Amino acid sequence: PGGRMIVLKSAAELDAMHRSNRVVHLALNAVAEAAAPGVSTAELDSLAEELILSEGGKPAFKGYRGFPATLCTSVNDEIVHGIPSPKVQLREGDILSVDCGVILDGFFGDAALSFGIGHVNGVGERLMNVTKRCLDHAVEAVGPGKRLGDIGAAVQTHAEDSGFGVVREFVGHGIGRSLHEEPQVPNYGQAGRGQILKPGLVLAIEPMITAGSWRVKIDDDGWTARTEDGKLAAHFEFSVAVTSDGHRVLGLEE
Ligand code: MG
Ligand code: MG
Repeated sequence: PGGRMIVLKSAAELDAMHRSNRVVHLALNAVAEAAAPGVSTAELDSLAEELILSEGGKPAFKGYRGFPATLCTSVNDEIVHGIPSPKVQLREGDILSVDCGVILDGFFGDAALSFGIGHVNGVGERLMNVTKRCLDHAVEAVGPGKRLGDIGAAVQTHAEDSGFGVVREFVGHGIGRSLHEEPQVPNYGQAGRGQILKPGLVLAIEPMITAGSWRVKIDDDGWTARTEDGKLAAHFEFSVAVTSDGHRVLGLEE
């Protein structure tokens, strides 16, 4: 259910969204702690679901357009929307991208991160570091009077200067009482272009960066998106509010 309008949130609503995102980050941290060689992505999914329910939330992705799980778990060349499975056992050297959504008290939270299983080779480690830096640069570009294109430009510049690709097919989004609200937030673009950011806007900013081509193919399961060239991908996401004096990353301990 995607709203078509831009919805600005009140201070109380931002606090509620902070709480839903807090549960998302608790789940992501628990998953990162538990992930190890031999652990299946289905086990991580159960762990996240139990934690979300125990915090009074509900998994936001489960049932969304028929998605069957609490987490999206995407391994190595998988970019996003990987489906957790008991058949997918993590191995030393894998890169795992985990995306998690929660609904709590009527508001959605959405965040993602990538991390290595044990020791990860040079390119994989650099890709994850660069993708996190892309998100950090994008967050720095958020503030009242800034423009949507400033965010995409921040991601694209850092990714491409690092020799990596920026996925086009999937973009970030507004978030609030719906998981996907306006506007779309591309990970590419031109600084100084696009709509002006106003206090109360909340954006899920989510760079998806690849070690090679940015082109994507979708598996026969209809969900799993992977790099066309089989090279590694990484994904980080924060839900970020525009505030009167800058920005607030929702769900992080303050
Ligand atoms: Mg997400
Ligand atoms: Mg998202």
